[in-house]
Amino acid sequence: VRERVRAAGGDPAQVALVAVTKGFGPEVASVARAAGLVDLGENYAQELAAKAAVVDGVRWHAIGRLQRNKVRLVAPVVALWQSVDRLALGQQIARHAPGAAVLVQVDAWGEPQKGGCPAAEVPALVEALAALGLDVRGLMAVAPAGPPAAAGPGFAAVAALADRLGLPVRSMGMSSDLEVAVAEGSTMVRVGGALFGVRPPRQG
Ligand SMILES: *Cc1c(COP(=O)(O)O)cnc(C)c1O
Repeated sequence: VRERVRAAGGDPAQVALVAVTKGFGPEVASVARAAGLVDLGENYAQELAAKAAVVDGVRWHAIGRLQRNKVRLVAPVVALWQSVDRLALGQQIARHAPGAAVLVQVDAWGEPQKGGCPAAEVPALVEALAALGLDVRGLMAVAPAGPPAAAGPGFAAVAALADRLGLPVRSMGMSSDLEVAVAEGSTMVRVGGALFGVRPPRQG
């Protein structure tokens, strides 16, 4: 994966690799950690909490749509809340994890079902989250399924918005589109399948 980042014109020392262990058991998270992957990403609160209880030395990233009532469960262990897309979620995070580091998820493609704040509303949300005492580090985006190259303009728009707001982190790019994201200025890729293979089907 780091070779792919380099081949896309990124410096692997500057593009953080978040290994997405969702769908796999704690043993996979444990192996990833032993292999030197310190940043692990999870989508589901229960799964994150269960793995955090048994795997040490990890910076856990909450990367998926998060319900407000799940914030408390994972607040003690989350290092970076990547998918904050509305003020009510930020308020819950500020309450259970004061001063926490967060990213604002941007909907750069007009796909509200994936979550994300419409780009035009991002500056106001960033300001409101900072006013709650949260440490807003950057922006995050999930590109639509489809040809990776089609995601380029959306990634570029997210990077430009982060620049304009003076935010250093741009979490963009997954297994299928990380080259496009890196070429457009990603500083953090979130990669599951390319590291761990096909995920087992989700239960329940
Ligand atoms: C599942 C997921 C990823 C990783 O996806 P892969 O295609 O397995 O690399 C990254 N980001 C988010 C938000 C995800 O839900």
